[in-house]
Amino acid sequence: MTVHFPFQNSYSALPDSFFARVAPTPVAAPRLIKLNRALAVQLGLDPDLLETPEGAEILAGKRVPEGADPIAMAYAGHQFGQFVPQLGDGRAILLGEVIDKDGVRRDIQLKGSGPTPFSRRGDGRAALGPVLREYIVCEAMFALGIPTTRSLAAVVTGEHVIRETALPGAVLTRVASSHIRVGTFQFFAVRRDTDAIRQLADHVIARHYPELLGNERPYHALLAGVVARQADLVARWLLVGFIHGVMNTDNCSISGETIDYGPCAFMDTYDPAQVFSSIDEMGRYAYANQPRIALWNLTRLAECLLPLFGEEQEKAIEQAQEILGAFPDIFSKAYQAGLRRKIGLFTERDGDDALIQDLLDAMAKNQADFTLTFRRLGDAAGDPAADDARAQFMDPAAFDEWAKRWRERTALEPQTAAERRTAMNAVNPMFIPRNHRVEAVIQAAVNNDDYAPFEELVKVLAKPYEDQPEHAAYADPPLPDQRVLQTFCGT
Ligand code: AMP
Ligand code: MG
Repeated sequence: MTVHFPFQNSYSALPDSFFARVAPTPVAAPRLIKLNRALAVQLGLDPDLLETPEGAEILAGKRVPEGADPIAMAYAGHQFGQFVPQLGDGRAILLGEVIDKDGVRRDIQLKGSGPTPFSRRGDGRAALGPVLREYIVCEAMFALGIPTTRSLAAVVTGEHVIRETALPGAVLTRVASSHIRVGTFQFFAVRRDTDAIRQLADHVIARHYPELLGNERPYHALLAGVVARQADLVARWLLVGFIHGVMNTDNCSISGETIDYGPCAFMDTYDPAQVFSSIDEMGRYAYANQPRIALWNLTRLAECLLPLFGEEQEKAIEQAQEILGAFPDIFSKAYQAGLRRKIGLFTERDGDDALIQDLLDAMAKNQADFTLTFRRLGDAAGDPAADDARAQFMDPAAFDEWAKRWRERTALEPQTAAERRTAMNAVNPMFIPRNHRVEAVIQAAVNNDDYAPFEELVKVLAKPYEDQPEHAAYADPPLPDQRVLQTFCGT
């Protein structure tokens, strides 16, 4: 039996300027190291067949499955604020699209599958470490309930890639509701190709915002839709302590999914200024800067859409500004509501925002672990004697002072302590992909060809809101000598 992919491609039917047709470059000795079987089933693929040698060849780009129409997508983008008129898929190839079990169109893309016309000076390849990092973190994000691209598979290629040293090469099979980015619009905007912008916008509306079909002002509504999804997405990132690391406009998805996991990381101790990425020297993409940067990226999208607004320039700009102006409010509403849930409030009252801010300030001052403080707060809600939350604070008295006010506030609500704890545990994860764990997993795989730690970490992170007492150690913050201070793009 051969592996059947039920492809129904739409992007490759767009005009030639949208992409370059290019097949993956075959690799020496593909070996499947991870298949996401549940996702395979969701996509209508046979996981048993994907685990055969033929399946591994497909997932490594050595064999192109029937019905695939491999392309590298064109896009531009602002990288750290600098505009680059042509980026494009330099090491990724879209095999095609399938309609999943829920009727959602999903891209199946190989990342690290060889050079394309967009590779510039790059080799088109990916190293094993970053592939494992992306696999782990994006699947963790999915389990946390955050919109994200997914990982279908990881294969090692049997070849080396040359970075600072020679490293094992790998290919990630990535699944996304699409790979269309703010940078895709920018690609056509800088070329003043208004027809292409309109075609792209129509494709995006049909695919990601079908509720806007027939709207009187579809392109205004599209901008508003992307603004709303991005505002909500970034709020969700902040609520779990996620730092994307490279929020360039080419890494900002139009569908509102988290995309392009590079030097991303979750913070351990709470610090709004936290940056991990080695290439983010100015802290442009620091934790607390992410909402501002998302709005900056969306402003670039608005500029691309202006020619479609069908008004004189000045009027169009005014309209765009009004739509963008909604971002701060949508973001804060989502963020504050999420924080209220994190501290176990069922209702909204005056003073809640200040109560929350005071907790965050105390956490920052006392180097409290972001994830554990909130998780243990759930225990403290259930049992006032539980003191694991206060133990996160360098000066536990700072917590006590705050907790007194918090208890007075929660006492105004009818829910029992147990109900409160259950609600809090459903939004405050026990397990996040902690950097030191991710690093350890990568080291074991790269240095010892040992994937057992990877498997176990992926398994634990699939149920982030469950206590999993047998895996309690995975919730621990790093010891001082385990602390990861920097993450690398590793492209
Ligand atoms: P990223 O930082 O991964 O979002 O990539 C930024 C741009 O660089 C995109 O156009 C990528 O396709 C390209 N790129 C990154 N790594 C490579 C590589 N190894 N070979 C070719 N192109 C690459
Ligand atoms: Mg990218």
